[in-house]
Amino acid sequence: MQASLEKIEHFISGLKRRNPGEHEFHQAVYEVAASILPFIEDKPIYQKMQIMERLSEPDRIIIFRVCWEDDEGNIRTQRGYRVQHNNSIGPYKGGLRFHPNVTLSILKFLAFEQTFKNSLTGLPMGGAKGGSDFNPKGKSSGEVMRFCQSFMTELSRHIGANKDVPAGDIGVGAREIGYLFGQHKRLTNEFTGILTGKGMEFGGSPIRTEATGYGAVYMMEEMLILKADSIEGKTCLISGSGNVAQYAAEKCIQLGAKVLTFSDSSGFIYDPNGIDKDKLAYIVDLKNNKRGRISEYANEFGVEFYEGQRPWSIPGDLVFPCATQNEISPEEAETLIKNGCIAISEGANMPTELGGIRAFQKAKILFAPSKAANAGGVAVSGLEMSQNSARITWKEEELQKLLRDIMQKIHNNCAEYGRESDGYINYLKGANIAGFTKVADAMLAYGVL
Ligand code: NDP
Repeated sequence: MQASLEKIEHFISGLKRRNPGEHEFHQAVYEVAASILPFIEDKPIYQKMQIMERLSEPDRIIIFRVCWEDDEGNIRTQRGYRVQHNNSIGPYKGGLRFHPNVTLSILKFLAFEQTFKNSLTGLPMGGAKGGSDFNPKGKSSGEVMRFCQSFMTELSRHIGANKDVPAGDIGVGAREIGYLFGQHKRLTNEFTGILTGKGMEFGGSPIRTEATGYGAVYMMEEMLILKADSIEGKTCLISGSGNVAQYAAEKCIQLGAKVLTFSDSSGFIYDPNGIDKDKLAYIVDLKNNKRGRISEYANEFGVEFYEGQRPWSIPGDLVFPCATQNEISPEEAETLIKNGCIAISEGANMPTELGGIRAFQKAKILFAPSKAANAGGVAVSGLEMSQNSARITWKEEELQKLLRDIMQKIHNNCAEYGRESDGYINYLKGANIAGFTKVADAMLAYGVL
């Protein structure tokens, strides 16, 4: 154990030296290395072939300038990125994020995580991530369109249905995917599945919009089933109010749970009576159509809005962080534990800080890490790619069942690799090892690349 700890520290100090200042990337690699280095201790071939070292270096990173004109005629300059992390088991696949805090470190962490997540789905997809520091908030649709067209003009040189297939993420929803796909079609004069999350009129898949949020709840359901428990009657804390949060809430409500909170970057609302179907419809309209703030919910339904705060001080059974990275600190994790939470399923990517994960694991609380819990989205994206290749659309019921089955398989796979001697299931360890094995074995097959 001591030898492993030293190896992990040595590995991470090299990573930090090569990637200075990239804290999110260091954090994501640490989280994986802490499971994988002990796992490969008695597997010399992975060590000799330097698989973890190679996996912590992206295949390539593309950085480009994106210029566009705002409504006042000013020329604006943004930075665009695509991190193609690993394509050992399939074409690069991963979302695009448009948010002012996007940095290379954030996209490298997301692309690294995506490689393991995509492997876990069982589908043939490599890992990538991209985006820009462009902030769609407060921009007119014309401005968003011009930005997307300029962004795709460069990105189109680097993607392709068998090469790299981006999708949405924070700040990139149905509207942005439409503009991006349209520009690619115009530039290449080809109609191919180069993006997923498309509208149903132009090659989208049923339930892609719902898949990440639903999947995170299915993962929770599976963990509870193993404990002879269920979601019905539980109270749920949800953060965020975007795509993932909305559909996590919808599924929780369908399964008989009571959703208490929602948030955005300005604060959170707490509705002790529960956010029911009608109140959720209000939030969906507020966020997707009116592009308003979650505080407006408080005025509409007469509940409390907590400005600048996150929902983790409220007592609740089940926790679904669905906003962004590092949104549960170690102190907030302790508060959740003290208030009696029994399980966490991460809808967002890496929402829990390392100290928070340790606190949950120490308290033996069920903890589903993002690479497993939110893999439902990319899984249905993979199915969208299959439908595009075959030029058909599958039935919604068929896809609903496939998503449910994939999440069950991911859960079982993680549980198998993550079971510890005292019976506690370390889902983080299980997800890392299950995701790693397939990619690592493909890399072994290719020799030194
Ligand atoms: P959306 O843009 O639809 O929603 C994001 C939500 O998170 C908004 O409510 C936003 O608030 C809030 N948020 C964003 N940044 C911050 C911040 N720095 N602090 C507090 N709140 C913040 O994104 P998605 O729902 O698609 O994505 C949410 C998370 O899920 C991300 O981590 C993403 O990587 C992950 N994910 C998404 C998938 C998908 O299919 N969409 C797939 C897998 C993972 P505001 O409106 O104020 O900005």
